[in-house]
Amino acid sequence: MIVITFKEYFDALLEGKLLGLKCKDCGAYTCPPKAVCDSCGSRNLEKVQLSGKGVIRTFTTTYIAPAGYDKEVPYTVAMVELEEGPWIVGRLDFDKADEVGQGLIGEEVEVFGKEMPTEMFYPDKKRRVVPYFRLLR
Ligand SMILES: [Zn+2]
Repeated sequence: MIVITFKEYFDALLEGKLLGLKCKDCGAYTCPPKAVCDSCGSRNLEKVQLSGKGVIRTFTTTYIAPAGYDKEVPYTVAMVELEEGPWIVGRLDFDKADEVGQGLIGEEVEVFGKEMPTEMFYPDKKRRVVPYFRLLR
């Protein structure tokens, strides 16, 4: 059974809300939503709203884009450990993070969604919502 559809997940993200799953068996959180608990594999899951806050654990800035993304460079992709435990991937809401440096690691951020141009390799896809992180300091 699907507890959260991708449409629901991305609609919420555009409103600044991060949805995830809470396991009714082990209590762990899973985000982004999947069919089973990331921790124990259970399907006994409920939809929850997460805080959307976390800490940058690592990041990388892209200057030379893969085909189709050339208008978006430079952009920085970060891995953020959420307060609830899961790690999610998104972009930082400023460019050239590597010029800011390793000090970004450990910074607190908040997630939000941004609607971006659709990708050339997925012509059937009607829209593209990208998770972004803003610094909380
Ligand atoms: Zn579980």
